[in-house]
Amino acid sequence: MHKESIYGLTLDQLTSWLIEYGHKKSRAVQVWDWLYRKRVTCFPEMRDVNKEGLQLLADHWVIQSIEEDYRQESVDGTVKFLFKLKDDNLIETVLMRHKFGLSVCVTTQVGCNMGCSFCASGLMTKKRDLTSAEIVEQVMKVQHHLDQAKQDERVSHVVVMGIGEPFDNINNVVNALRIIKDHKGLAIAEKRITVSTSGLADKIYDFADYNLHVNLAISLHAPTNKLRTRIMKINRVFPIEELMRAIDYYLKKTNRRITLEYILLKDLNDSREQALQLAALISDKRQLTNVNLIPYNPVDEHNQYQRSEQESMLKFYDILKKHDINCSIRLEHGTDIDAACGQLRCKQIKSDQTNR
Ligand code: SAH
Ligand code: SF4
Repeated sequence: MHKESIYGLTLDQLTSWLIEYGHKKSRAVQVWDWLYRKRVTCFPEMRDVNKEGLQLLADHWVIQSIEEDYRQESVDGTVKFLFKLKDDNLIETVLMRHKFGLSVCVTTQVGCNMGCSFCASGLMTKKRDLTSAEIVEQVMKVQHHLDQAKQDERVSHVVVMGIGEPFDNINNVVNALRIIKDHKGLAIAEKRITVSTSGLADKIYDFADYNLHVNLAISLHAPTNKLRTRIMKINRVFPIEELMRAIDYYLKKTNRRITLEYILLKDLNDSREQALQLAALISDKRQLTNVNLIPYNPVDEHNQYQRSEQESMLKFYDILKKHDINCSIRLEHGTDIDAACGQLRCKQIKSDQTNR
């Protein structure tokens, strides 16, 4: 019998399941504690769970379902993991060190169907969605890696910005977020979790209604429909006006700030005029938005795109600031190890193929 990883259950789901099999609610809390606080990797290590309980768990579930295939460490402390799923698909997860803590960037799909023309992940069409367990296990694997070093380090932040479009797999992503933020478990604070979407406007409404209290980032990357459609196919389905309406709903419903991501691409979206257009587009919501200007990480297959000159980036930033737009320039991590979205996996797959 194929067994799923127990990391895919929320505490409520685990509790109902155990009650169905005649166990008390307290058993679920006990198992949860072993999984997320003591972080054991096999059931027999749950020492105070009785024999029948252990047998029941082992008959139906496994704890770990993905394995580390490859790991790359950067001089700045960034670690990029390549994980192999049960069906041999490969995904990547990145650990980043910041002044404010340790963040993990998780993947939500094998490949991505959104096909943004600057992105390496979009080169691999989606093979399948990740399960909630596979999303949670990426964080657990990174935490186990930290536990092994015995420096008492904890993952403090999670960003859902790896391969895939989270809102194209929203149910599994939301379930996974409920698991990682559960205060009896990993307890990653809601305000330290960020989900990034390419702008599936219909799902932004749903996400607002889920009441998760986590942060939302939206990949805007262009201030006009003409340019956005050219670089992001999703803009044909949800043009900027619809996206802005969904953002307004989200802001009103949650009263949480959002981040607008804007990759600066040389001679494409980085002019003075485009900075003014962007400032005008979001001026009515500037109290609740932050623009995050992102230096482009060049992708071999998309060599028509280049990173903006530093001078253009700073000018763009200044114009936004002059118009009272909150904005920042993203710091880069692990550039010596290809930490850009999708790159490591592409290279690994390429070398696997050439070795065949
Ligand atoms: N699919 C989601 C989340 C994953 S991508 C999304 O698109 O938002 C996370 C972020 O990385 C997005 O803002 C995306 O546009 C950006 N990105 C993709 N390729 C990049 C590259 N080569 N350099 C810099 N940022 C990139
Ligand atoms: Fe998919 Fe995001 Fe890459 Fe676009 S930027 S192809 S949505 S992963």
